[in-house]
Amino acid sequence: KGPDPAIAAIADRLSGVKHKILVLSGKGGVGKSTFSSNLSLFLSQNDDTQVGLLDIDICGPSVPKMVGLEGEQIRQSSSGWAPVYVSDNLAVMSIGFLMANQNDAVIWKGPKKNGMIKQFLKDVDWGDLDFLVVDTPPGTSDEHLSIVQYLKDAGITGAVLITTPQEVALQDVRREIDFCRKVGVPMIGVVENMASFVCPKCDKSSVIFPATSGGARGLAIEQNIPFLGSIPLDPRIGISGDFGESFVDQYQDSPAYAAYASIISSISA
Ligand code: ADP
Repeated sequence: KGPDPAIAAIADRLSGVKHKILVLSGKGGVGKSTFSSNLSLFLSQNDDTQVGLLDIDICGPSVPKMVGLEGEQIRQSSSGWAPVYVSDNLAVMSIGFLMANQNDAVIWKGPKKNGMIKQFLKDVDWGDLDFLVVDTPPGTSDEHLSIVQYLKDAGITGAVLITTPQEVALQDVRREIDFCRKVGVPMIGVVENMASFVCPKCDKSSVIFPATSGGARGLAIEQNIPFLGSIPLDPRIGISGDFGESFVDQYQDSPAYAAYASIISSISA
């Protein structure tokens, strides 16, 4: 059996995309989709930067809600599936747009999941993009192998690994790092999420997991990959995600915004 013809079709489809960034996490619930959404919103603040956000987190596509596009449907155009636009220069495609019910995907079996992922990579008409941010499912499953395989010819710029500082999450990041090394995906770096809490009233910062404080940075150093920074737990991030309001537009005076800004400047550099 020769190579899957979809691999070449995907490379062709994504030939106008300069940077393809995978957002990975070892565990669910660490803030991966929040990061993918905010990264895309941040990058699109520059009107001249064309950004696409592709949500293939089959386990629970939460991107539509986070970017305020819940309930939108995919439109078919003559050249593929048309993404849904948050703004002129931020296009979004999510498996969530295909599901009448948010819980539908939970019962999908492997081949159906892989088929969907393949279709999403192959059929979305992005046009020319500076950045395509891909929100992947948590962990290192068969889906990840498929994603990497499908993007083999298109080329992956790199992966950003999101983690919280707890030891259980860090262990899973080690696995994620192993995975990237084995399949040859370059790692842009590690982002730590929710290590500290900044009180919105007094702006004082408290460490949430003291036992493993600094663990993500330590892991990055030990593994010889860049540590990109730490985003504090900030209720305004949660609220923005729950209501689909842009944290990036609304809370530019918050410490979490400053953390994002610094992380994203190193990603886009
Ligand atoms: P994952 O994609 O890893 O499963 P999500 O991005 O869905 O995780 O985040 C899980 C929950 O945590 C969401 O309700 C989100 O709003 C919240 N969250 C993520 N990061 C932060 C943060 N830095 N501060 C506050 N809430 C956050």
